[in-house]
Amino acid sequence: MSLSNALAKTSPDLTSRSIAYFSMEIALSPSVPTYSGGLGMLAGDTLRSAADTCRPMVAISLTHRRGYFRQILDAQGQQTEADVPWSPETTLPSANKVISLTMQGRQVLVRAWRFDVVGVTGHVIPVFLLDTDVEGNDEWDRRLTDHLYGGDTYYRLCQETVLGLGGVALLRALDCKPSVYHMNEGHAALLSIGLLEEHLAGNPLREAQEIDLEAVRRQCVFTTHTPVPAGHDQFGLDQMYQVLGHDRGAAIEHAGCLHNGLMNMTYIALRFSRYVNGVAMQHGKVSQLMFPDYKVHSITNGVHAGTWVSPHFQELLDAEISNWRTDNQYFRSVYGIDPARISACHFKGKQRLFDVLAKRTGHHFNPSVLTLGFARRVATYKRASLLLEDPARLVAIAEKIGGLQILYAGKAHPADGAGKSLIRDVYAAAARLNSSALKIHYLENYDWELGALLTQGVDVWVNTPRRPYEASGTSGMKAALNGVPSLSVLDGWWIEGCAENVTGWAIEDAETEAAEAANLYEKLEKHIAPMYANPAAWSRMQQHCIAINGSFFNTHRMLAQYVCNAYFPFPRLADAASPSVPVNEPAVQTLLNEPALA
Ligand SMILES: *Cc1c(COP(=O)(O)O)cnc(C)c1O
Repeated sequence: MSLSNALAKTSPDLTSRSIAYFSMEIALSPSVPTYSGGLGMLAGDTLRSAADTCRPMVAISLTHRRGYFRQILDAQGQQTEADVPWSPETTLPSANKVISLTMQGRQVLVRAWRFDVVGVTGHVIPVFLLDTDVEGNDEWDRRLTDHLYGGDTYYRLCQETVLGLGGVALLRALDCKPSVYHMNEGHAALLSIGLLEEHLAGNPLREAQEIDLEAVRRQCVFTTHTPVPAGHDQFGLDQMYQVLGHDRGAAIEHAGCLHNGLMNMTYIALRFSRYVNGVAMQHGKVSQLMFPDYKVHSITNGVHAGTWVSPHFQELLDAEISNWRTDNQYFRSVYGIDPARISACHFKGKQRLFDVLAKRTGHHFNPSVLTLGFARRVATYKRASLLLEDPARLVAIAEKIGGLQILYAGKAHPADGAGKSLIRDVYAAAARLNSSALKIHYLENYDWELGALLTQGVDVWVNTPRRPYEASGTSGMKAALNGVPSLSVLDGWWIEGCAENVTGWAIEDAETEAAEAANLYEKLEKHIAPMYANPAAWSRMQQHCIAINGSFFNTHRMLAQYVCNAYFPFPRLADAASPSVPVNEPAVQTLLNEPALA
């Protein structure tokens, strides 16, 4: 995708935009480094679907002039990081507005760049990337919108202040007055304080009454994205008062948004939203237990089909199924396509992946050998090494089934020492185990392009999170759209997507990691390899993945659910107090007893 999309001369009409989508990160284009992983991809896919299906949306994020980071791995798998600088001024039109924000006891000027997400229909979703690198600002403030998830908590709180308060102010300066504000994760929660300031029109915030808070709540929707306690930003009260000032800080306290004596972005978002949801059915239930004072709904994530379906499949779909780009329900019609053609398309994606692998690394993988893919942010709960738990067994399986290839990828957060050591572990295992039967390779710098190549090219997508920490997961959905089944722990979206032996396989829950790994090996040896050896059965499974899961786990469906459940709910839905469904299982109880949040 080229940036030329973004250079449309005329600004779309902003006065008619009724939904404002706020997100700390948004993956807008492979060449714009404004995202780190799943959250930003989801935000970008949401906007791409909004553009394709003509939704009246506008979006706010930060410029992130130095990006997240490019991952460099040495021969031992030791990760180092490099900035990814980019230059919005040479690629994007300016919003032509500068607003001034009072924070840290001084004025901070904020401007914005406009990235237009253009749908297949021609409909445009304008995204405003806020930028504090403005002449006249304090030198430190000029760097505030540079590093996605960089810096300390003070830097982060300043960024979230720019995002929430700056975003609302910019929309007003642009004469844009949406009726719905969607906080995509707690980072954006301070938009509620911006709306409260506007509602009180100059009166002190700390005197806000319940009726004033209600006026803000009527406009706000909040999606929470992780049950991992460390994923919920919190700040000390000294920082809150330093950055936001006395009046806003006192208002946050008076509104009851502190949690355990800290300013907690999730609790601000909860308090100021009329609709709250988790990102898969189970995640909604787990979040309901975490936040028992609030009603938590569920809307299961999806991915943007036009972005993630391989070029070869796009060609096939364009030839066989018109309108799939605007209406993803047509993916069900894949049952009308000969499974052998589906397999042939997938095989081209596999060859393409291995060509890139050879070019980048000099490693040659064989396209007729069963290949597993495992790529995701490296966090301990994702358990990248479960697949390597019993190396002898893995080698024995590889020898028995005629060979096995495994491709890994994933970045660890620069400050996550435990995550970084997991990458070295995979490197060490690969060095020990690589043989004629088993090939393991860890690819550097997992990003949009590599994510697409992998989900379009491997045969089976593996996911091994510790339950119930995977809120949703979306890479397995990208795989499904390309006819790639998953082998995964029943967590997140896979609880909804797994039809055993039809769309993939579940790694069954067990007492110990060793027992879970044993179950994984058994599925591989007894179910997956035999089916892979039977091309007719395998291609039928590829067809099921697309027809059953592709037709549901897409952002066209997801966004339609946001529209009718969250943004513009049917009148009776808005008030219906549906009883929450209990989740009584040990894994959830363990999570609830973790410190940071509970
Ligand atoms: C899709 C995607 C993710 C999120 O996938 P998960 O299944 O949630 O791990 C992360 N990073 C990149 C580069 C992606 O394309």
